[in-house]
Amino acid sequence: MYPLIDLHQDISYYYISGSSGLDFNLANFNLDLPNRHGDIPKFKRANVAIIFSSIFCLLSTISPRVEERFEKGLDRKPLRAWTPKGTHSTTFEHIKLYYRLVDIYSKDIKLILDEKSINESIKGDRIGFLIALEGSYMLEDVDDLRIYYNLGVRSLQLTWNFDSRYAASCLSSKDYGLTGEGEELVKEANRLGVILDLAHASKNTHMDVLELSKLPVINSHSNAKRLFKVSRNLDDEIYEEIKKKGGVVGNIFTFIGDKEDIGSVAEHIIYVYKNFGPDILALGTDYFGLIDRKAPKGLEDITKINELFKLLLDKGMKESDIEKLAYKNALRVIKENAKRWRLSLSL
Ligand SMILES: [Zn+2]
Repeated sequence: MYPLIDLHQDISYYYISGSSGLDFNLANFNLDLPNRHGDIPKFKRANVAIIFSSIFCLLSTISPRVEERFEKGLDRKPLRAWTPKGTHSTTFEHIKLYYRLVDIYSKDIKLILDEKSINESIKGDRIGFLIALEGSYMLEDVDDLRIYYNLGVRSLQLTWNFDSRYAASCLSSKDYGLTGEGEELVKEANRLGVILDLAHASKNTHMDVLELSKLPVINSHSNAKRLFKVSRNLDDEIYEEIKKKGGVVGNIFTFIGDKEDIGSVAEHIIYVYKNFGPDILALGTDYFGLIDRKAPKGLEDITKINELFKLLLDKGMKESDIEKLAYKNALRVIKENAKRWRLSLSL
């Protein structure tokens, strides 16, 4: 069994929200809770090495305006609206939650903070949580990124479904790509080795970042627009550009189409494989972030991923391709960025 790198899970959202919108209850993370997307026993069974542990810094709100925009852009009626407010405080709570999990379960979980910790987790030491910001809304200026870096953050997704002062989102009504400040932010992320993540970003944001970034980037959790046309998914031109720059796309377990099952997830992966080759493939399940949605049939929790691999082998992928999908490609991008990780308290 290969080590697994998952480019997107919202574990802190699960605990902080009290499992709101997820179809399993709160329970200690060392219990093998039936139906829960993941927990320490399941991660061990699935041989999970590194999880991009996301910080969803938005608050639930009442807004017909947002609901309408989400319904239009995401092809489903949302049960709730969100707002990027109070983002500093919210982000701090999420970071503290990850610290707490590492404190309580220190035998099994650690933070990914340096190159050594990456290698150890891949070799089967503790599960590595790599803290990742979902959206740049908590950055009041570009220099704030260094503060978050020093708190343990190692990846930055430029937008969620709202535009930011740095970049346009996939639901933008005016796709302005990166702003001038956004360009500064990309350079600062490169300087620190903070892995840039284009999930939820607009087309122009993708193109601008791919042109500017000196380091390979990820799109942590998205699928192919050719198979399911929704704003969150990627067109072929974006895949081509990410491939050219040595980046990866984590296939997500939602936005797969009308039939939400393991077969449809496999179809998206096969589409990317056949059209863009094996080196762009990665996984970004969005477990714990499937808010008000169900996991696909056959992929109810992380341990089922082996069934997905078997299916992909049946559909013509080679063992060496599965290895790349499971961890090798993602590891390549992480390591390229991690070369720049250092203690950066001083200017
Ligand atoms: Zn997301």
